[in-house]
Amino acid sequence: MAEKTMEFKTELTQLLHLITHSLYSHREVFLRELISNACDAIDKVRFEGLNNPNLLDGESDWKISIRADQEAKTLTISDNGIGMSKDQVIENLGTIAHSGTKAFLAKAKEMGEQDNPELIGQFGVGFYASFMVADDVTVETKAHGEEAIKWNSTGTGSFTLSDSDKVHRGTDIVLHLKDEAAEYLEEWTIRSTVKKFSDFLEHPVVLLTTKKDEETEVEEEKEEQINTQKAIWLRQKSEITTEEYAEFYKHVSHDMADPAETIHYNAEGAIEFKALLFIPEAKPFDMMMNNDPKAHLNLYVQRVFISNEFDNLLPSYLRFVKGVVDSSDLPLNVSREILQENPMLDKIRKNLVGRILKTLKAMKTKDYDKFLKFHENFSTILKEGLQSDWENKEKIADLLLFETTAKEAGEKTSFSDYVENMADGQEEILYLAGENRTSIENSPYLEAFKADGKEVLLMIDPIDDFVLPQLMEYKGKKLKAVNKGNLDDKDELKDEEKTFEGFLGFAKDLLNGVKEVKLTTRLKDSAAVIVGDEHSMSPHIEEMMRRMGQDVPKHESVLELNPEHAVVKKVQALYDADANDPKAGTLTQLLHDQAVIASGAKLDDPAGFTARLNAVLVG
Ligand code: ADP
Repeated sequence: MAEKTMEFKTELTQLLHLITHSLYSHREVFLRELISNACDAIDKVRFEGLNNPNLLDGESDWKISIRADQEAKTLTISDNGIGMSKDQVIENLGTIAHSGTKAFLAKAKEMGEQDNPELIGQFGVGFYASFMVADDVTVETKAHGEEAIKWNSTGTGSFTLSDSDKVHRGTDIVLHLKDEAAEYLEEWTIRSTVKKFSDFLEHPVVLLTTKKDEETEVEEEKEEQINTQKAIWLRQKSEITTEEYAEFYKHVSHDMADPAETIHYNAEGAIEFKALLFIPEAKPFDMMMNNDPKAHLNLYVQRVFISNEFDNLLPSYLRFVKGVVDSSDLPLNVSREILQENPMLDKIRKNLVGRILKTLKAMKTKDYDKFLKFHENFSTILKEGLQSDWENKEKIADLLLFETTAKEAGEKTSFSDYVENMADGQEEILYLAGENRTSIENSPYLEAFKADGKEVLLMIDPIDDFVLPQLMEYKGKKLKAVNKGNLDDKDELKDEEKTFEGFLGFAKDLLNGVKEVKLTTRLKDSAAVIVGDEHSMSPHIEEMMRRMGQDVPKHESVLELNPEHAVVKKVQALYDADANDPKAGTLTQLLHDQAVIASGAKLDDPAGFTARLNAVLVG
């Protein structure tokens, strides 16, 4: 094949620039990324070889080797893993697989490109980290039954492809190091960096050196294994340091920060497995952008990596958890599809879910500040469990925090604290969902509860209105949205109802989209509110969905009026005096308009509203 030059995708060029310029102080991670990739490549071929031994080309002496050449200033990382075909090379090394790249770059720009290692660490730079230390990178690779291929780039916008004479399956990555990264040619640096990042890897990482024998002058090849290859999850907890856990976490998550929580245990009894799980401190960028709803735990069977794609190993509402599960009870020589069906996985999942929820609960009691951070980052995801995991609904609910009328903005309360502080005789957990605290804390829906000294939870996460109705109750107390359903005691308004009867009928006929107009005691200062059905969506959510282009059918709501309010009294009097007085109609419509605005919804006819308001202002 003649040498062929191809352009990187634009975003990739920008990303390379960003990586090389802002990750400088963390540049040693290039070695972790390359060794991780080599390890993944070996895992892939080893697994596929279980069912298709041809693929292995007779090789099973798995190894990742590193060789430094002082004269050529190159560092070569080789593996005998699965290798890549030409198309795979173009796909994997010429574009960025992550779909959130564009959004990521926009965010990086907004935050200022310089010195942004946390952000970029959240993104997970992978192979491209090579360009932090190298000004020229060559990849030679061969997959089973494919031609070997050579990829080369200086990381400045394009790459070339040409033939390679590589004979064995696998991949060699040759980095020509920049002068300022020459330390990575030193044995000591390589050894200590590999040890730090890859000690626990299950495949040997070896350092290859050539030494001249002083006497015979013969060059001798030396191979020294650097990592101890002890799968960390198989070791005793007491023997593992926090740093070792953190390094392993970074290996599985590509995060740069330490984990917030580490869960390491052996399950024994009916089902036996080992699990090493981590709860991250912050949301990785992928999670913010990709919206991948699947959990990706690494499943090992008898220390052989099988897959991180099994969605029945961990429910998606716990997808922020990273880590490894290793079971010796599962069969090894079956396809992924058959393994995925194994009922044992359900048992493992139940056990993992229990552990994770228990750990989060302990975090909430023992380290509330840490829990608050967790909550801020992951509660929206966790809440999905209210809908999907009925068995654990109450345990999940126990982990949720909400703003409340009883506390200042920004401070939160839990369901259990709420229930504890409930007023005597109060039977329901009251809540109001809305766009943000300011828009709802002075809402007419809260007036009566404020007057009675009852606490109302303020739910301002958009998902709340979808998932909380699923919870239905907590510790036997029903959840009640204060802007939905009936609140009134029929008898209390008997006398007023008589007086208002004719006017209420008139208002119902006049107003569009209103199925009933009635009197209420729920209001103190306001004149009118719109109330939805017990099962309807809140108006602000309907509004949000419409803005996202969804077709939300208008549902008919109830207009409730405060018979004590001066305006309501006035309209009623106008109507009573003359049922055809146009002013009675205008004022009735304005009552409806203001109730719609206060509910968080949008007016259907803002121009009409303005005209009505002006008519009244002029008198
Ligand atoms: P990630 O590893 O996060 O997917 P990378 O940019 O590091 O992202 O790598 C992109 C892809 O290139 C990998 O998913 C893999 O398919 C392929 N790849 C990288 N290194 C190797 C290797 N040593 N052997 C085989 N394939 C590799």
